[in-house]
Amino acid sequence: MTAKNTTHISTHLIHHGYTPPADFEAPQPGVFKASTVFFPNVAAMRQREWKDKSGYTYGTHGTPSTFTLEERLCTLEGGKHCVLTPSGLSALAVAAFSVLKTGDHVLIPDNSYGPNKVLAQGELASFGISHSYYDAMNPQDLEAKMQPQTKLVWLEAPGSVSMEFPDLINLAKVCKARKVLMALDNTWGAGIAFKPFDLLGNGSLAVDFTAHALTKYPSGGGDVLMGSVITCNDDLALKLKLTMMRLGLCVGANDVESILRSLPTISLRYEAQDRSARQLAQWWKEQKSCVQVLHPAMEGAPGHVNWKALCASEGREGHAAGLFSVMLNPALTQAQVDSFCDSLQLFRIGYSWGGPTSLVVPYQIESMRSRWPAHLNKGYLVRFSTGFESPDDLVADLAQAAAHCLNF
Ligand SMILES: *Cc1c(COP(=O)(O)O)cnc(C)c1O
Repeated sequence: MTAKNTTHISTHLIHHGYTPPADFEAPQPGVFKASTVFFPNVAAMRQREWKDKSGYTYGTHGTPSTFTLEERLCTLEGGKHCVLTPSGLSALAVAAFSVLKTGDHVLIPDNSYGPNKVLAQGELASFGISHSYYDAMNPQDLEAKMQPQTKLVWLEAPGSVSMEFPDLINLAKVCKARKVLMALDNTWGAGIAFKPFDLLGNGSLAVDFTAHALTKYPSGGGDVLMGSVITCNDDLALKLKLTMMRLGLCVGANDVESILRSLPTISLRYEAQDRSARQLAQWWKEQKSCVQVLHPAMEGAPGHVNWKALCASEGREGHAAGLFSVMLNPALTQAQVDSFCDSLQLFRIGYSWGGPTSLVVPYQIESMRSRWPAHLNKGYLVRFSTGFESPDDLVADLAQAAAHCLNF
């Protein structure tokens, strides 16, 4: 048995190709740090090329450690070229800057990761790049919002915070029919829930870019900030590298080391947090204080059929990240909802997900969307990210805080 004849991502990531220094084979690859790289002579210095990764020239343009992580992330997501950025948000920015210029238009889902909208309102607008928002749950709305100048469409599955799962396949088909570039924020799927470069499973439909907040699952520790942009297209890869070079962006070797160490366990961690999140979401379904459970793998949740078609087709059980939201009963008050969050003992109040500690954040949807989405019941939205605590302990924690605070 070799990594070649398995389809399981864990086996691929653990037995990934790597040439260690002579007589030093070990579980983890080496960690290399450099700003300066020495050349044997001036001719070699002049000849060496970094853009195609045929050589090392300077720390910002890559080291054996960054190249190794980039290759493994390509394996994880099914792509060909990867650049590493200092955070997930900077991955979104690098993807946008690599292809957009003054006069272009970009489309962003109304339920996208909020800072991507803020980037469009700020830097992109000030560089003369316009944007509009589309309803991710309606491929016809995407079609209707396309302009002749539309150069890039952002995709995200599921939507941020409200967790509705779009018909990604048909959104991608709209982009492809118009030959408009598409970039997917792949943080939730993480290369495990679905294959962004082969959406139909027959090699005929791929996004052009994925951006991934490695801060979440690839790190898994709640202690590293990093992002990646991956593409299968050689020309787009060169554009990404040139944007990275001109902006002077790179990542630190210690952070690369942390992610390389976490990567072999990504699918085990993803599956464990998925199981816990579903147990918690099931518990919420039976609570009178909850009017809607927003978890794409739960029957009846907004976009569940789309999740099923993309992530659980052909009898596969289907993966989902350990992240879900609930809509709490509008008969409660915001003060009760806030004190519920404050009363949780194991869930800590904080942003991000994929780390060891379970997290909770109450959100105000009114301030995040152009309008209240039709598929969301009215109420107070609270988002949970499950860590690695025992799910039974987490349910007990929810129950004690709910008993104290969610009475009406
Ligand atoms: C966290 C996150 C980001 C940004 O990642 P940072 O490393 O925090 O900048 C982008 N997109 C999604 C969907 C995220 O969850």
